[in-house]
Amino acid sequence: MSVEYSNSQLSTFEQCPLQYRFSYVDGIKRREEGVEAFLGQRFHDAMEWLYGEIAFRVPSLEDVLAYYEKDWADRWHAEVKIVKAGRTADDYRLMGRRFIEAYHRRHHPFDEGQVLGLERYIRFKLDDAGRYRMKGIIDRLMRAPDGAFEIHDYKTGSKLPDQREIDADRQLALYQIGVEELWPEARESGVRLVWHEVAFDVEMRSTRSAEALGELKARVASLIDRIEAEREFPLRESALCGWCPYWDLCPAKKHLVKVEALPEEKWRNEPGVVIADSYAERWRKKRELEAEAKTLEAEMEALRQAAIGYAEKEGVQVIAGTDAKLRVTSREAVAPPKKGTEERAALEAKLRQLGLWDEVAALDPHALEDAVLAGTWGAEALAVLEPWIRTEKRWTLTVRESGDGD
Ligand code: SF4
Repeated sequence: MSVEYSNSQLSTFEQCPLQYRFSYVDGIKRREEGVEAFLGQRFHDAMEWLYGEIAFRVPSLEDVLAYYEKDWADRWHAEVKIVKAGRTADDYRLMGRRFIEAYHRRHHPFDEGQVLGLERYIRFKLDDAGRYRMKGIIDRLMRAPDGAFEIHDYKTGSKLPDQREIDADRQLALYQIGVEELWPEARESGVRLVWHEVAFDVEMRSTRSAEALGELKARVASLIDRIEAEREFPLRESALCGWCPYWDLCPAKKHLVKVEALPEEKWRNEPGVVIADSYAERWRKKRELEAEAKTLEAEMEALRQAAIGYAEKEGVQVIAGTDAKLRVTSREAVAPPKKGTEERAALEAKLRQLGLWDEVAALDPHALEDAVLAGTWGAEALAVLEPWIRTEKRWTLTVRESGDGD
């Protein structure tokens, strides 16, 4: 039985394969969540409750806010993480209230269609054979007055997407594939995708052609193939690390987690900290010296040109200083055309034609490394070359100053 993927699962893999491994391969559960996700979930709860009530009555704004406040208090827990400096839980709670107020004002009395499903869990396949399977939860599935199916999604994020991003959004387009599979009538009556960007009180809409959905299916299937072929699950640091719950396991973060738990004095003397600080100190010094060397080289180049001019003008080979002599000599040298130019290609072709190529061609170790590691030459060629090719681990140390976007 093939695995069912959710859109957020696919996005996690794209953002950081290692986080994907922790979460979906190793199945390591974490209670920790970002306050933004907590707020988003509370807003979703409030909307689910509101639209659930619509079957009986139209809830007032006060009713919805009261539900929201109770839900927030009941579900708040110590592992809700506030990443943004200087922000408090109350800032976010009040923000959620404002979202609800604006949403209620805009949509009251909530008669924009018939509710077909709330937080509706769907499972569907991307291909006839059922090799590629997806699952998801539709925030609200509606039937609009004109008969079209509408997939509504609440977004509480602080960045308003533009129409191009909305038209390229994967999540709701995947849900459309699911809706059309589960309710074939939707294919006839049409499907609209609707985003409620509640932080901005903006509603955005998009539709997808059958052709676009076909292309999406192919793209997602190939992403699933990549996920299933992945063996390394490399880490990929980004701004999203701030919301990752696996810092204590991640090789990019776990040392920081370890030392941050130490008292100041012990932190400074922890062996890794000592090595990193000493290395960074020398790296900074080297950088300063290199900058100085660059300045000196530029000054020397100007003097070199002056010396050549002087020697040519005066007809001398040695220019006598007070405490040093400067010898200025020249010789004929060959200047081959630059790499990648037509002249270079023509010269190389001519050398080959004359049977002289082997005398001037040299092995390019970088090209060899790229070809071997990327496997571009194929298994057969690599097997033949194997006796002469060995790989070794090369270490790279990169200094990142604190505040460089960590
Ligand atoms: S902390 Fe960043 S790099 Fe490490 S697993 Fe999480 S997202 Fe990936």
